[in-house]
Amino acid sequence: MSSATTGLSSEKRHGYGAGEAPEWDYYSKCIHCGLCLNACPTYRMLGFEMDSPRGRIYQMIQVGNGRLEMGDTFVHHIDLCLDCRACETACPSGVEYGRLVEAARAQIEKRYRRPGAKAKLRRLFLEQILPNRRRLDTLGKALGFYQSSGLESLVVKSGALRIFSKRLDRLARLSPRMEKPFFTERLGTVVPAVGERRHRVAFHAGCIANLAFARLNEATVRVLARNGCEVVIPAEQGCCGALHVHAGLRDVARDLARRNIRAFADSGCEAIITNAAGCGSVLKEYPQLFEKEETEYYEAAKRFSDAVRDVTEFLAGIAFKPPSGAVRVKATYQDPCHLLHAQRIRSAPRQLLAAVPGLELVELKETEVCCGSAGIYNVAESEMADKLLEAKMRRIDETGAELIVTANPGCLLQLRGGIARSGQKQRRVAHVIEVLDEAYQNA
Ligand code: SF4
Ligand code: SF4
Repeated sequence: MSSATTGLSSEKRHGYGAGEAPEWDYYSKCIHCGLCLNACPTYRMLGFEMDSPRGRIYQMIQVGNGRLEMGDTFVHHIDLCLDCRACETACPSGVEYGRLVEAARAQIEKRYRRPGAKAKLRRLFLEQILPNRRRLDTLGKALGFYQSSGLESLVVKSGALRIFSKRLDRLARLSPRMEKPFFTERLGTVVPAVGERRHRVAFHAGCIANLAFARLNEATVRVLARNGCEVVIPAEQGCCGALHVHAGLRDVARDLARRNIRAFADSGCEAIITNAAGCGSVLKEYPQLFEKEETEYYEAAKRFSDAVRDVTEFLAGIAFKPPSGAVRVKATYQDPCHLLHAQRIRSAPRQLLAAVPGLELVELKETEVCCGSAGIYNVAESEMADKLLEAKMRRIDETGAELIVTANPGCLLQLRGGIARSGQKQRRVAHVIEVLDEAYQNA
């Protein structure tokens, strides 16, 4: 589409401020066909064009050409987007919607002043705590003490938090359980392969995952080792920056990317493995953070990203050793959005689950629709997140599965929340890797 057909001058096309912004090359691919609408969770829920991918792209164009103010209305519709990228899978025109919404958010963070304490807390967490391992560890220890000392049950029973602040009460309920010993203790170590060494891989352990999914990280290393991998866990690695990219904080994300690129540069490994779909998607897209400048980091980011593999993708691509122990259970699999839509990985986790003796896999209807987790979306946009979770739990009920399997820590938390809310004590949620690990242990 040329500027003549849209009536936009080249100057107006660049109506955003300095820094990354939605670009003509990307939004002009949208032919407004609407084929993405029914794939979009927020459109399905609300039925408003402005909460659809096509409507959001239209608003981005209007803000870019100065016809729409970057004000509360625009920010509301962009905030409500889950960045789940289901619209990318549905789009016949190859629109990279993730790039667009992340660039729009970068502009919002630079030019729009968010009111209230919630915005300050969000920035404090994303800019001061997540990137700093020491502060994150301290917070993890404090939260661990609160959860294990009995203080939490006292506070919950008294309802004190709810009286003080409903948001704080929700945050406390959604907070993941701290799992001691933290996986941070394993950073800087090398785990040998079980039996003959056939691969040498590096493991990206995440940030919050080191505290709240320490057992999942350990299971991941065990499963890799059982499959002939020597696992290097670089000491200097850190948060991948996924939450920052999704929130539009690209400068912080760039700092984090540089740190990880340096940390893994000399590991001499054939692959960089992650067990978190959201992290993997951003790790694979690091070059986007440097493509405009910093040629040196751009090239290094490309080498880094080429090596990144989701753990399910890696295992399904090597001579995988099927477990001989059984996990006798009826299970269903929820596709994490950033594995299915952003990384286009669908068959690998199913292939691994099919190799587990005794496991009956029942396909979940609408498995491609987001569960409402989406990073910190379930805290920031709690009403929509709750509606999506309720819809997901209804679909899960239809399967009759006792075990819900997924491949992303955020989805694990959200689905566990769904189970807790509905009081379904017979059900549990696990990562694909935890199921494999259980099967190996049962052998
Ligand atoms: S990323 Fe997800 S929520 Fe956002 S517009 Fe696309 S489908 Fe809708
Ligand atoms: S499917 Fe693609 S081209 Fe069609 S409206 Fe959606 S984003 Fe635009």
